[in-house]
Amino acid sequence: MSRTGFAAKSYRTRGIILRTQKLGEADRIITLLSPERGVIRAAAKGVRRTSSKMGATLEPFMEVDAQIVEGKSLHTIIQAQLRNPYGHALVADYAAYTAAHAMVETAERLTDSEAESIAPQYRLLHGAIAALARGGHEPGTVLDSYLLRALATAGWAPSFTHCVRCGAVGPHQAINIPLGGVVCHDCRPAGSLSPSPQTVELLAALLAGDWETVDASDIASRTQAGNIVTSYLQWHLERVVKSLKLVERR
Ligand SMILES: [Zn+2]
Repeated sequence: MSRTGFAAKSYRTRGIILRTQKLGEADRIITLLSPERGVIRAAAKGVRRTSSKMGATLEPFMEVDAQIVEGKSLHTIIQAQLRNPYGHALVADYAAYTAAHAMVETAERLTDSEAESIAPQYRLLHGAIAALARGGHEPGTVLDSYLLRALATAGWAPSFTHCVRCGAVGPHQAINIPLGGVVCHDCRPAGSLSPSPQTVELLAALLAGDWETVDASDIASRTQAGNIVTSYLQWHLERVVKSLKLVERR
């Protein structure tokens, strides 16, 4: 017991706010991703009052430093400082905002099940949110690049260059979602997709972070690539990531 009789443990952590939910009259439950501790759900008291300084800090997509007290069922955030106000730039751009929502929803699912890759997942999410907030690339392509890399980090790296069955060097015409990428003419199972060669090239560029190729791509390839990335993600998460339906690609 401490001198005050207050035995609860507290810790400091950096984190990106994934989402917030109302709690009672003036409070919120904040879900944040910490690079060391993974997904944390904690109550923030009084943050919905207009006088609350912490309320403006604990908004989706903000990167914060938080002081958190451990509780039996729910932790409590007692202090939060803004590190990077990415949320401010994102609320002003609908396409970037919906892309960011799909990113944090995916990050929450991947880090809930993949405890060992939390730090690299945090770096990926941070880089992608920062890129969205900066602008400069079409938000749908930033999202698709993030999703492919996040899946690769979780252990499901797709291939868009070599046949996923026999390893033959491409370019290949067909993509098989359950197998995880392109398949050559000989290996191609029934039910494989036949995207355009430009789409396959774009998918490889999104995975590699080749932004020169990505930025030069056309809307048809982006739409087709986006659908393939979504199918690949859903195959692995086995659940629909709801926010993806709201993303418009331009
Ligand atoms: Zn093959």
